[in-house]
Amino acid sequence: MNIRILSPELQQKIAAGEVIDRPASAVKELVENALDAGATTIRVDIQEAGRRLIRVIDDGYGIPAAEVRLACERFATSKIVHEDDLRRVRTFGFRGEALPSIAAVSRMRLLTRERSALLGTEVRLEGGTLLSSQEAGAALGTAVEVWDLFYNTPARRQFLRSLRTEYGHILGVCTRFALGFPDKSFSLSFDGREVSAFQPGTLPDRIASCFGREASASLEEFESTGITGRTWGFVLPTEVAWRRRYYFFVNHRAVRNPTLYRAVRDAMPGEGGMVLLFLDVPPSVIDVNIHPAKAEVRFRDDPAVYDLVRGALQRRARPAWLQVERVAEREAEYRQQTNTRFSLLGQIEKTFLLTMSEGHLYILDQHAAEERVLFEQLQSGTVKQRALIAPQVVTLSVEEQEFLESKAAEISQCRFTVESFGPQVITLRTVPDFIHPKDASMIFSRWLVRVRQHGEDFHQALSCVAAVKAGQELAPEEQARLLERWSQASNPHACAHNRPVYFRLALDEVRRKIGRTGLSCEFTDPAAS
Ligand code: ADP
Ligand code: MG
Repeated sequence: MNIRILSPELQQKIAAGEVIDRPASAVKELVENALDAGATTIRVDIQEAGRRLIRVIDDGYGIPAAEVRLACERFATSKIVHEDDLRRVRTFGFRGEALPSIAAVSRMRLLTRERSALLGTEVRLEGGTLLSSQEAGAALGTAVEVWDLFYNTPARRQFLRSLRTEYGHILGVCTRFALGFPDKSFSLSFDGREVSAFQPGTLPDRIASCFGREASASLEEFESTGITGRTWGFVLPTEVAWRRRYYFFVNHRAVRNPTLYRAVRDAMPGEGGMVLLFLDVPPSVIDVNIHPAKAEVRFRDDPAVYDLVRGALQRRARPAWLQVERVAEREAEYRQQTNTRFSLLGQIEKTFLLTMSEGHLYILDQHAAEERVLFEQLQSGTVKQRALIAPQVVTLSVEEQEFLESKAAEISQCRFTVESFGPQVITLRTVPDFIHPKDASMIFSRWLVRVRQHGEDFHQALSCVAAVKAGQELAPEEQARLLERWSQASNPHACAHNRPVYFRLALDEVRRKIGRTGLSCEFTDPAAS
């Protein structure tokens, strides 16, 4: 479709508002344009958190030479013509606002070539005014460079937060596109450093690239089709996703929506974890024209969407490998395990170890016992370092990143080696040897929350997050190993937080309680004595 200016009536109907309020919103608009143009490879380069440069290069179908200047005018769009088209839009854009809004507050250079043209077109604008327009050699597709964003609106420029905050927003925008379009190739660089490079793949592949392999191994899948549409996606259970986070994509558009939020929350009450939810519906049943940045949608039939999504999530499937592991553990359950000082009787309720020593029964809290063991190792500095063959990526909030930098000594004392990978992204190179590589980034992230937000002691918090949890089934060998390590602790009685580790029941006391004095049924009658 050709680019034209929307009719005045239609201009009135469009949810108005400020489109470009920070570098990340310019990135969002430009990547949306690239996707709307059918690009399969999109590259985003950022300098100085977007204040100096935002560049988005795509291999989409380009803009015809005759229309390039028009594309930068207000309300010029190739995506809708009539009001009815609003009910049919499948593209991200439809208002013709992004390019002019960005051009108005920057120095913009746009280079584009459509397939049928030999030469491309280059236009330059400054503060929205056209400086030049000429033929130029160009690859197929479009490259938009946005220099010195907000240079002519000093108030806006000053309003920008720290570089790190702005980088965080940009990373968030790009992560959502990467998740929304796993079949496209995306790359992102900050100040010349490659932050992420995503190859086309499946959604689980993409989740693995964004959140680590350990996350993608625990995905719980859901899918359901109803008359309203089709929903599908994945849940990362709480053990893997330390933060509660929902990503919603309606027709691949990343959005917020209260109905979807309620449906997820009601399907998994009390559970944290991460949810990646896709919903594909006919464009006619949603309204995308309700938010200036198109970050929200409204459904024409909320209850139907609610039921579809909630039902799908309730029926989600656990990953196959988790089920297999459980069975293997059960088979080994009957073998008797012994320990030098304690005899192990078994695990109760997946929470306690039942053991016996010198005529006493000990009911041991498995978590508290291991926490004590790890805490003593950390305190005595005897923990070894484990190098990760595949370094694990951890994403951080701005506050976490700052905290990490200020606590570098404590972090490395706990045997973690952290490398900066991009703003708000780090990789773990080594971890304490009691952490299994596949849990590394999850444990690290949880630990960080405990020491930063709750001000907990580093050793206490680490021994707690790394120790086996209540409710975790342990194979008999694992039970025995834990018992052995705990029985050698210098203070086996209390966990790192000084709560008791076990309850001891003396057999003498048991005898007294049930009145056993002899070997057979000759009970002393308490009333007779
Ligand atoms: P909208 O996306 O709402 O139509 P924009 O201001 O973002 O408005 O873009 C105006 C027009 O310029 C688009 O409708 C499209 O025709 C064209 N355009 C913008 N970016 C690209 C791109 N990367 N590739 C191809 N065409 C583009
Ligand atoms: Mg657009």
